Amino acid sequence: MFFKDVVGQQAIKARLIGSVREQRVSHTQMFLGAEGTGNLSLALAFSQYVNCEKKRDTDSCGICSSCIKAQKLVHPDVHFTFPTIKAKDRNALSSEYMKEWRTAILENPYLNYLDWVTMIADENKQGNISADECREVFSKLSLKVFESEYKVLIVWMPERLGKEGNILLKLFEEPSDKTLIILVAENQNLLLPTIISRTQVLQIPRIDDQSLIETLEKRYELSRQDAEKIMRHSDGNYREALRLINQVEDNNQQVFNQWMQLLYRNNVSDLIKWIEDVARIGRENQKSFLRYGLEFLHECIMMQHIGEHHSRLQTEEKRLATWLSQHMQFEDWQEMMRIFDESHYYIERNAHPKILYMNLSLRLRRMISKKKLSLTV
Ligand SMILES: [Zn+2]
Repeated sequence: MFFKDVVGQQAIKARLIGSVREQRVSHTQMFLGAEGTGNLSLALAFSQYVNCEKKRDTDSCGICSSCIKAQKLVHPDVHFTFPTIKAKDRNALSSEYMKEWRTAILENPYLNYLDWVTMIADENKQGNISADECREVFSKLSLKVFESEYKVLIVWMPERLGKEGNILLKLFEEPSDKTLIILVAENQNLLLPTIISRTQVLQIPRIDDQSLIETLEKRYELSRQDAEKIMRHSDGNYREALRLINQVEDNNQQVFNQWMQLLYRNNVSDLIKWIEDVARIGRENQKSFLRYGLEFLHECIMMQHIGEHHSRLQTEEKRLATWLSQHMQFEDWQEMMRIFDESHYYIERNAHPKILYMNLSLRLRRMISKKKLSLTV
């Protein structure tokens, strides 16, 4: 992970990079920050940076062999310890959960404890860093450095260390030379005091408003207005911001339904308002909306031609599908799907959303109203 991929936290990044440049990297550090601050992301970016072979002023190079392995989370000198669960076929050891760990972190390095546990077991299970894991950490860290400057251990959620955490104290106190231990924690009150006293604590603040807004605009192509709204509701927590963006997706059905009604009623002023609203939701959300439309149309065909029991539509969607089916034949569904597919293609290539949705609406309206006429003749 690059520092540039970590949202905001400019002061922390500068401090970490400075410590490497001035060769005063503390051997045992704790990145202490609430959920969504990016404490784990910072640990990943920092561990990539310390071993980068061609460090740049503000980030790692991303192309040396160390960076390439670090980015895929397969660097032989970067070890991870995190909560796990003893299962029928697995011991409670991080090494036995690495595949899931890599998938989870590469997908969202802002995940929280519950996201992780529900990924590896059901949410009622308690994940812990076991005594066996602590012993394994010892042997991992006694290995020679394979190929890099630093041997790194990232301990995620040390809150989940019970008394067995004391096994690690000696390691934290006197790590061997060129070893870097980063504890990534959220809640100081749940940590063993003996551990806190042996680490250098770096407080990670909430993400500043400006960085959060800019990231949402850039990565998710949200309008300034929507980005500000999400910023206000997420309180500097990037995980929460991502959750709120995804909520927009749940909205697709409602927006689609409203659109079809407007087209049917030929309500032009409300249709223009609808187009303006949809044009504002950002490119990724528009793509998701059009994909929803495609799936819906596909299900409509299934329902009309194969039977209701083959369709995966929800009750509300079924109502709309039944209503539309009165006006549509197989060729019409196909034509609609083709128009949606085409629109998705153009949105991806930066088409102007207002013009695109106006064009799309006119074409769909023509199809629907043509049918209406033929029915009334
Ligand atoms: Zn590099």
